[in-house]
Amino acid sequence: MASRRWLLVCFVCLGLMLAPTGAALSSSESPPLDPMPFALERIVRAECGVVAAAHPQASAAGIEILMRGGNAVDAAVATAFALAVVEPEASGLGGGGFMVIYDAASHASTAVNYRETAPGAAIETMFSVDQNGFPGLWGAPSDTAEQAQRMRYGGAAVGVPRTVAGLLAAHEAYGRLSRAAILDPAVRLAREGFTVSKTLYSAILNIYDVLLSEEALARVFLNDLLPYEPGETMIRPDLAATLERISAEGAVAFYSGDAGAAIVHAVRQAEGILAAEDLETVVVDLERPMTSTYGGMTLVGAGLPAGTLSVFETLQILSLLDLSSASPGSASAIHQIVEATKLAFSDRFAFLGDPAVVDVPVDLLLSAAWAAERAGRIDPFHATLDPPFGTWDPGSTTHVSVVDDEGNAVSLTQSIGSFFGSRVFVPELGILMNNTMADFDPVPGRANSVGPGKAPLSSMSPLLVFDEGRLRLALGTPGGTRITSTMVQLIVDLVDWNLLPEVAMGQPRFHSTGRVLELESPVPQTVIDALTALGHPVEVRSELDLYFGGVQLVEVLNSEDGRQLVGIADSRRAGRAAGY
Ligand code: GLU
Repeated sequence: MASRRWLLVCFVCLGLMLAPTGAALSSSESPPLDPMPFALERIVRAECGVVAAAHPQASAAGIEILMRGGNAVDAAVATAFALAVVEPEASGLGGGGFMVIYDAASHASTAVNYRETAPGAAIETMFSVDQNGFPGLWGAPSDTAEQAQRMRYGGAAVGVPRTVAGLLAAHEAYGRLSRAAILDPAVRLAREGFTVSKTLYSAILNIYDVLLSEEALARVFLNDLLPYEPGETMIRPDLAATLERISAEGAVAFYSGDAGAAIVHAVRQAEGILAAEDLETVVVDLERPMTSTYGGMTLVGAGLPAGTLSVFETLQILSLLDLSSASPGSASAIHQIVEATKLAFSDRFAFLGDPAVVDVPVDLLLSAAWAAERAGRIDPFHATLDPPFGTWDPGSTTHVSVVDDEGNAVSLTQSIGSFFGSRVFVPELGILMNNTMADFDPVPGRANSVGPGKAPLSSMSPLLVFDEGRLRLALGTPGGTRITSTMVQLIVDLVDWNLLPEVAMGQPRFHSTGRVLELESPVPQTVIDALTALGHPVEVRSELDLYFGGVQLVEVLNSEDGRQLVGIADSRRAGRAAGY
């Protein structure tokens, strides 16, 4: 529970901040707080509330909501909608995600699973190669390359979008401000414009030829047919109108009527199989989260099909090894962590799928006996080289962490798949559709094979961490399967090695699924040599590489003097933490 002292401090500072503007709480008509009376940095320390997100204007949107009297859920949902505007390449209304919510009053956590699902017309063989009578959905013959391409880009790659339903379900269950109030910052950013980040700029450059070749995309994401430069203003009246309709009417304004018809039309024009019924039947329920312990901490995440289980399984294996005697960044530490991660990855590909469709042995995979058996397979002197899997795994996505003045918290990761998703754009709504079907296993008969209404496995793992029952951390990251590696590395840094979060955030990251061991620079030559001697095929990547994600983290420091919040945005992306 909150101490009286900091509650008083928060009350006083909120009063001071709102006083000059005379802003009315929870009114969407309230003028924006101007000038912004909060800190907005890579690292902020604050007493009342912190929001960390991948774009400064999204973090500012969230903190504005907190300062208007909203709670952590209001702020997280407002930030997520704002990210749909200011970081359109990474997430948006055409996608999906996961959220974990901690309600301080009841001391209970809830998960919201708004992962996309396959359309009802999907079939298990739709992306398989025509070798044994599997014609896919588009007729034989098709080759591997064509099917892989179909799975990634265009209408066939589009899963049923669930972000709008998910965010509004969380807001309805926990929010304090009106729907109009929490959508207001996103509407303003879309109408009045936002600053193009370096991340958006480079994502645009990466697919410049695609944007140029599609008139609807070029009109929105290019500036007179040229890439927007970082720092320039992009305006999105198309998206503003969609957000305004959702604000006025709720999710129905997105999933049915003209909006639903426009989505279906755009996806089908691009050879997709989405139907009006897929959209009209979208419902998002709140779920029990998945929990585990590590080093005395309790970890709370979203259940399958989120990536949480793989993070927990890796940590369970690591808890049986000898990490504490290894130092951060040493060859021994990297070897143990990547070997444990690879074991969890191979279990992921053998056993994990949508629990609504597949019987996943969750308890077994998280049991001490299983971890012991897996840990016993790790050879301290040799790397495992068998590639356990080989999916397409570019990584995009975004994460938001929020803690409010009452100690409520949200950890939220959402995506449209890879940057710019399927590249299918719905011009009437100004939204990009996801390419989440690419997260299925194209081979039939496996746990994560395609199925109608089935959700593909995700790596997304938003987490809350509790120390002796008190909230200590909200954290998460984008980055495809590097999400698992990054989350494990951060937890180990913070729990085993007691690194400060700001130090942990700067540690070079590493990732291996078997084929190569990717090391983020800088890495000493002695470490490269030692890992090579163990048999790891080492590949060194650049410093602070966004390939390794973009963590957004809030730490809660409790002491006798009260509570301090530390918000940190990863320098690998354009994010900032906002605090007051
Ligand atoms: N589609 C990816 C997944 O769910 C998104 C995560 C990412 O690539 O950052 O695993």
